[in-house]
Amino acid sequence: MPKKIIAGNWKMHKTAPQTAKFLDELISKLPFTEAQVVVAPSFVNLAEATALTKNTKITVAAQNMHQAEAGAYTGEISAPMLTAVGVNTVILGHSERRQYFGETDGNLVAKVDSAMNHDMTVIFCIGEQLADRNKNNHFNVVEYQLRDGLFHLDKKFWKNIVVAYEPVWAIGTGETATPEQAQEMHAHIRGVIAKSYGADLAKNVSILYGGSVKPENAQLIFSKPDVDGGLIGGAALQVDDFIAIINAI
Ligand code: PGA
Repeated sequence: MPKKIIAGNWKMHKTAPQTAKFLDELISKLPFTEAQVVVAPSFVNLAEATALTKNTKITVAAQNMHQAEAGAYTGEISAPMLTAVGVNTVILGHSERRQYFGETDGNLVAKVDSAMNHDMTVIFCIGEQLADRNKNNHFNVVEYQLRDGLFHLDKKFWKNIVVAYEPVWAIGTGETATPEQAQEMHAHIRGVIAKSYGADLAKNVSILYGGSVKPENAQLIFSKPDVDGGLIGGAALQVDDFIAIINAI
C-alpha cells in the first residue's frame, strides 16, 4: 500500500513570524491521521520550521534545490545544506520551476541524483499543459516527464520517490481535474512505472494529485483508488483549510 501524503507547497508565501504562527496552530490542531503531513516553507524559514516541528508528525520539505554539493552557484542551496538543518524531503520539477526558472529534464535528473545521494525523499512533479490535453497528448507528455526525470534510477531508490501529478492548467486557476481525470492519469502513471519496474514496486509508490485542491473537492479526489494524497498550494496557506484537506484523506 502506498503511504497517504498531504503536502502543503507554500511557494513564495509566509515570512518567519507567519511560518511560526502557522506551525504552532497546525501542531495544536493537527488531527490524528495515518497520512504523512508535509509542509514546504521557503528556504529562509526551513531551519525554524524543522525546529518547531521536532517531535511532531509533521515533515518539512524544501521547494527546490541545486544539484551540486557546493560551489560557485550564487543564490543556490544544496542537498547537504538542507539535510544539515533537518530537511530530508524536497519538491523537484514543479511546473513553476520548469516554466519560470528554466528547469529542464536534464538538470532535474541531476537534482534527483543529488537527493538520492543524500538519502532524501523527492516529491517529483509532472503534468501537462492545457494545449497538450486539447491535443489529446496528455498521457504521452506525462509519461515522458516521468521517464526522463526518474527512470534512470535503480529500483532501490524508489522507496524515496513520491510522484505528484499536477496538470498545469489546474494550478492556482481554481480549475481542478475531475476526480475521473485524476484517476485515469494516476492509473496511467502507475502503469508506466509497473512496465519498467514491476507491479509490486508500482503499487507502493505514492502518487499525489495537485491543482486547486480545496476542502470542498478534496474528498472526492482522494476517494479514487490511485490517488494517494495531494500536493496543495493555495489551500495549504490557511491552517483550517489545510486541516480540512488532511481530514479528507
Ligand atoms: P494550487 O497549487 O493548489 O494553488 O493549485 C498546487 C501546486 O502548485 O502545487
